[in-house]
Amino acid sequence: MSVPSLRVLCMISVARLATALLALALAVPARAHSGAPPAAEKPAEKAPAFKLEKLTDRVYCLYGRGGNVGFLVTDAGVVVVDDQYGEVAEGIVGQIRTVTDKPIRFLVNTHFHGDHTGGNPVFIKLAEIIAHHSVRPRLLEYPETIKKTFPAKLQAIEAEIAGLKDAADPYRLALEKDRDLFGFLLKSAQSFILADAVPPALTYEGEVRLWLADEEVDVLHVAPGHTDGDSMVFFRKEKVLHMGDLFFNGMVPFIDALGGGSGRGYVRNLDHILALVPPDTKVIPGHGPVTDVATLRRFRSFMADLVGEVEKAAKGGLSKTEAVRTIRMDQYPEVKPGFRTLGNGVAVIYDEVKAGRS
Ligand SMILES: [Zn+2]
Repeated sequence: MSVPSLRVLCMISVARLATALLALALAVPARAHSGAPPAAEKPAEKAPAFKLEKLTDRVYCLYGRGGNVGFLVTDAGVVVVDDQYGEVAEGIVGQIRTVTDKPIRFLVNTHFHGDHTGGNPVFIKLAEIIAHHSVRPRLLEYPETIKKTFPAKLQAIEAEIAGLKDAADPYRLALEKDRDLFGFLLKSAQSFILADAVPPALTYEGEVRLWLADEEVDVLHVAPGHTDGDSMVFFRKEKVLHMGDLFFNGMVPFIDALGGGSGRGYVRNLDHILALVPPDTKVIPGHGPVTDVATLRRFRSFMADLVGEVEKAAKGGLSKTEAVRTIRMDQYPEVKPGFRTLGNGVAVIYDEVKAGRS
């Protein structure tokens, strides 16, 4: 493990130089760009009221607008996980500055969505930005794909909704959520400006470890889950885990199938990390309050049971529409619908099962 880690540290110094040059070359306004947030996560009108929660002597969770921010403070500098939106990024830095004046050395983007990467134009001036390989093309190229392919998708969804008269039909409700989300993503893609994009300058596959003073930070990618470029970040010594959007605490998770996500992959990620972290680890979800390993384990059960139900339905000959209308997960009342409904999850997993993806 130490050899790859050393190699990465060398890469980091080269990449720091590249990053500095890039930062000089780009006059980057803080602008929300595409691939960006699901509708319910999109920017509100006003600046958020930040809430800073101290989890250990050195690790904090910062709630604001968008995905939860986690950060570790060491004598050798600060590691930040996710940076919400451009317009709140200075505020995030300000919150970190209430705790420490140590330099911000690294920022990890847990995935490409705009409510986790929108602050990159601010953070690139301060830190090395790290993410899984897939995050770069998602930030740089995916908006073009959205512009080309989403109009037809939206038209098809509208046509399907028009044919469904029952407003309480779970299948219709799921389609309405898709319409709202895809409409928002298309609008974001249409205002995307490539020159403003700030992708990670250091990308990895598998795992990368950061070493700061006596702290070790493990950044892991296991399989496509929420998207195709998810990272989980484990502050090993502090026993704090940041799950990114591989964990929505208290709400139906978003499986971004068009962004390369997978329901079965979600479960694989959860199994991997649950086998790795001690039971007294504190867990920062992408969205929702900080919690513990027991709650993460229960979320894993929910996801595994949901996948199992959809597989059973598909095997039993149910159509996707029938599966969405019949599958309920009443044994998990804490998983509440939000900007995604249970039906959205069922539909995505159904497509995955039918396509034979594992
Ligand atoms: Zn996300």
